[in-house]
Amino acid sequence: MTSTLDIPVSPNVQPMNDDQRTIVSALKSFLKNRVEPGAAERDQTGEFPFDIVKELGDMGIMGAQTPEEYGGAGLDTATFAMIIEEIAAVDGSLCLTVASHNSLCQGHILIGGTEEQKRKFLPDLAAARKLGAWGLTEPGSGSDSGGMQSRAAEQPDGSWLLNGSKNFITQGSVGGTYVVLARTDAARPGKGKNDGISAFVFNRDEVQGFSIGRKEDKLGLRSSDTAQLIFEDIRLPADALLGERGNAFKDVMRVLDGGRVGIGAMGLGLGRAAFEYAAKYTLERQQFGKPIALNQDIAFRLADMDTRLEAARLLIRKAADLKDAGQNFTVAVARAKLFATTVGVEACDEAIQMLGGYGYIKEYPVERYWRDNRLTRIGEGTDEVQRLVISRDVLKRFAD
Ligand SMILES: Cc1cc2nc3c(=O)[nH]c(=O)nc-3n(C[C@H](O)[C@H](O)[C@H](O)COP(=O)(O)OP(=O)(O)OC[C@H]3O[C@@H](n4cnc5c(N)ncnc54)[C@H](O)[C@@H]3O)c2cc1C
Repeated sequence: MTSTLDIPVSPNVQPMNDDQRTIVSALKSFLKNRVEPGAAERDQTGEFPFDIVKELGDMGIMGAQTPEEYGGAGLDTATFAMIIEEIAAVDGSLCLTVASHNSLCQGHILIGGTEEQKRKFLPDLAAARKLGAWGLTEPGSGSDSGGMQSRAAEQPDGSWLLNGSKNFITQGSVGGTYVVLARTDAARPGKGKNDGISAFVFNRDEVQGFSIGRKEDKLGLRSSDTAQLIFEDIRLPADALLGERGNAFKDVMRVLDGGRVGIGAMGLGLGRAAFEYAAKYTLERQQFGKPIALNQDIAFRLADMDTRLEAARLLIRKAADLKDAGQNFTVAVARAKLFATTVGVEACDEAIQMLGGYGYIKEYPVERYWRDNRLTRIGEGTDEVQRLVISRDVLKRFAD
């Protein structure tokens, strides 16, 4: 090491309480021993890591925010974000599985479910005896999800007949419990087209007429499961209705707000992994007689990556704390998700550049980090959707 670097180091650690330190430390050692060794291979084979997910269930990670009375770990959102950041830094695919299973499927049941529904579905999900999927997106409706075509028609005996399809559903083909959105009623005058949509929850092995369509061949996140769902005259019991009939969209927005904490933390974690790899690599790689990190251009770019990732972590922490305080966090989490995924993906791209040709080669992990992270700018509301949320708030604030 040269004298230029002979200065005290201030490691970039976020404030954690004792419980968080214990959880993160146990998780890090599990990730190092059980997840990291096969992550690159699973990226190649696309194999879904059922065993690892089950072990994460035993550790409480698959029901991280679900209250203990329903079999979960009952952790707060800040701790959940730390967990997601750590998993992302090792295996993006596994991270998407954990994030969506917790925030989307269980998140919606927690927000809209009756006591009976919580008792029926959450313990199996929290222990990962069943995997959870959440179906909002359709072939013709993504960002504009209120334009969905799936329909559920109420039958004379109070049951429902569900028809339609859903696209790009995480855990689509490996799921056991599904929350799906469908139109049950026409939008009431003056209410906008998001009105009249309802949510349903059911176990796959308890219904007929459910099938899996195409399994997607993706750029990244290759060992997470993404599939199309097809509903053909699925008969659902009356008590499959999740939340208020025709008024599910307000719950969907709350589910997505919660999910965005996780996807922001995922963008951050993958960006951090790329940054750390690049920092170590550039200190080792010698060109023109010295480590390439000792060129100020590279050192300053590392400084920018470090600063942006730390700022992202603080934005996520703010959104998480607002959520846990029961305050509105819609705009805070839109900012956090937009920023964290932007700087996270940029960090991956910068890391590829700093590794030169090696960054482009699969033997080195940074190209996987970039491929995996690219989704975080799209899923659970694209960059542009976050800007819609933030800009509406800005305009409203200054129009008054
Ligand atoms: C790997 C993966 C996993 C996923 N998992 C799930 C899941 O578990 N459950 C689920 O329901 N969905 C899931 N999705 C779907 C995901 O949420 C959608 O892909 C995303 O919301 C965008 O919708 P879209 O793909 O239809 O794009 P579109 O909505 O067609 O958007 C295309 C482009 O147009 C832009 N755009 C659209 N409207 C506007 C506007 N008003 N102003 C400016 N720009 C605009 C978008 O930002 C985007 O850049 C997943 C997707 C992927 C790829």
